[in-house]
Amino acid sequence: MLGVIGAMEEEVQLLRNEMTILEEQTIAGIVVTLGTFHGTEIALAQSGIGKVNATICTQMMIDRFSPSAMVFSGVAGGLLPNMRAGDMIIASHVVQYDMDLTAFGRRHGEMPGQTRMTECDPALVEKATQAFDLAFDGLEGAPNLMLGTIASGDKFVQDTKTLRWLQREFAALATEMEGAAFGYTCHLNSLPFVVIRGLSDTAGETATGDFTDNLKRVCQNSYHLMERLIPLLAA
Ligand code: SAH
Repeated sequence: MLGVIGAMEEEVQLLRNEMTILEEQTIAGIVVTLGTFHGTEIALAQSGIGKVNATICTQMMIDRFSPSAMVFSGVAGGLLPNMRAGDMIIASHVVQYDMDLTAFGRRHGEMPGQTRMTECDPALVEKATQAFDLAFDGLEGAPNLMLGTIASGDKFVQDTKTLRWLQREFAALATEMEGAAFGYTCHLNSLPFVVIRGLSDTAGETATGDFTDNLKRVCQNSYHLMERLIPLLAA
């Protein structure tokens, strides 16, 4: 089965609405919905916000449901000036930007014995790009797709200084609060994973308002991509 995680209600509810639900379990306070999505077996969980919640949820899903692959789907703040709310990011790499051992001469995001960036599974990234094309090719007002690094930390970024630092320090396209914790946990468990994000805001001074205004619409874009991706992962 495929494991799918979103942090917030809005990020999981469209998928959940379309599932044939077999069972719901609450484990460590996390609701996991088990069943099929258009015929594909999935376990869908709402992790809650931030790296700690994402880590607990990911390890719990792996231990309890033995997924063959994991996808995190949600929203993020874009870091490049020309990005628009609604655009989609498929992570090639994820990094915990607030892991700071610079006191020991390490680079931001670097941990002892680990690569600084965690690489998403290239085959899943490829399938996610196919799913994007299936969902949006030829559609008027279609979002843009960008592949690259997502930087995660336990902070909602809403200032130009931080967003520029993230862009330049990590060559990151977007920032959010779960992807790198999810990815790192999958990596430690040797499980293929990918992170998919729709841009709810551009992480600058207007980010909080933009996030609130755009959340529902952007989650629909992510849903359309996920709707095409899930069957590809069953094959
Ligand atoms: N509505 C919440 C806060 C949402 S936090 C409350 O009531 O407190 C923002 C969520 O969206 C996180 O799950 C994060 O992964 C993502 N996100 C979107 N834009 C972001 C940004 N600019 N910085 C950090 N995370 C962002």
